[in-house]
Amino acid sequence: MQRDTLVALDRDHLIHPVVNYRTHERRGVAVLESGRGAYLTDNTGKELLDAFSGLWCVNVGYGHESIVRAAEEQMRRLPYATGYFHFGSEPAIQLAAKLVEFAPPSLRKVYFTMGGSDAVDSAIRFIVHYYNAVGKPEKKHFITIERGYHGSSAQGSGLTAIPAFHRNFDVPLPTQHRIPSPYPYRNPVGSDPEAIIRASVDALKEKVQEIGPDRVAAFFCEPVQGSGGVIVPPKGWLRAMQNACRELGILFAVDEVITGFGRTGPLFACEAEDVTPDVMTVAKGLTAGYAPMGAVLMSEAIYQGIAEAGGNDLPVGHGHTYSAHPVSAAVGLEVLRLYQEGGLLANGIRQAPRFEQGLQALLDHPLVGDARSRGLLGALELVANKETKARFDPALKLADHIFDAAYRNGIIFRAFGDNVLGFAPALCYTGADFDLMFERLRRTLDEVLDIPSVRAAL
Ligand code: PMP
Repeated sequence: MQRDTLVALDRDHLIHPVVNYRTHERRGVAVLESGRGAYLTDNTGKELLDAFSGLWCVNVGYGHESIVRAAEEQMRRLPYATGYFHFGSEPAIQLAAKLVEFAPPSLRKVYFTMGGSDAVDSAIRFIVHYYNAVGKPEKKHFITIERGYHGSSAQGSGLTAIPAFHRNFDVPLPTQHRIPSPYPYRNPVGSDPEAIIRASVDALKEKVQEIGPDRVAAFFCEPVQGSGGVIVPPKGWLRAMQNACRELGILFAVDEVITGFGRTGPLFACEAEDVTPDVMTVAKGLTAGYAPMGAVLMSEAIYQGIAEAGGNDLPVGHGHTYSAHPVSAAVGLEVLRLYQEGGLLANGIRQAPRFEQGLQALLDHPLVGDARSRGLLGALELVANKETKARFDPALKLADHIFDAAYRNGIIFRAFGDNVLGFAPALCYTGADFDLMFERLRRTLDEVLDIPSVRAAL
């Protein structure tokens, strides 16, 4: 189909996630057509280096024939099997067992969803159900972190703590609370790791006291805050938060939707700090974007609490037609094999210093105030003044300028607000891919710096 026709049909009928609708109508859609390795091609034939793995999900890169074969074989044999009425399928059972084998040892049971938002939504429902089941119905309150992202479901969007996800949606709910972000670059307690960790622990304890310890169900966090601007807390932070939760008698729920599956180095970020959450949500890298799937993993205690309360006949009324979809599960099994036997996890770990050095080297650029990363998850924070860390005036529309220049230069990454550029290269990146990424990125920043209104703002 002609590009102009597609743009018109898109404008007329397709609602896109998390864009300004008027801006989208004006700009029109950029149609992506094919992908191989770390590279995409749009429908004008332009090649683009994907430095964001789609939406931090295509961790294995594009074009893996073995994944296509796994999906095709499963689709031919059995495209769908419900999990209702005690039915199931082999790939889903195998994938659940493998997740439990490789996840933190506290997690023993898996419920599959279609993505991250419904994994978070399911986690909330299971936690609420659990506390009702074990006779603690007053435990209804959830605590998350400013700038946290936990999806767009009706309740999960209230655990998300980014203003655009609340505006006009009537969340957060009165049972959803927030503590400040452990943001090393902009933290009132300074950048000392110990001070940042202490501030988070103190804030959690204070918030629990304020709500009442018997009324708090769980603390939910990302090991690295993704959509809030790739905020990398100090090492030891996750473990300290777990210890605080245990001390306070509240559940510790970790959202590994972005950080899972090698994004920060190990298969799960929890591994690096040896933490054992009560609940963990995953999606994205689980199927590397080749098919939709997410999951919530939970401890034996939560599962048993729910199971016991049902006795021998009451169903647990939580379900999705596509829970444990066999084609997605077959994809997940092959993706997991590529991370492990296929060597992608090892390559990601090998390449992470190259990524980190490339980001740090850009600190000499007049627009860049901070560079941060963990594994292959990183960001540059742009500032109008490196001393005061002043942000650019939103009226400048810096993010639009950067996106346009990046596209011209053949690179895709993501802007958060107008001042943070996020990167999530695939685990298949080679040294040459990184060289090209940083060459195109620097050229993009130089071109944006040459825009008179940007230069005038410095
Ligand atoms: N949790 C986190 C930490 C995420 O980053 C995201 C998506 N970016 C979600 C949940 C929601 O996942 P999905 O977009 O697949 O619904």
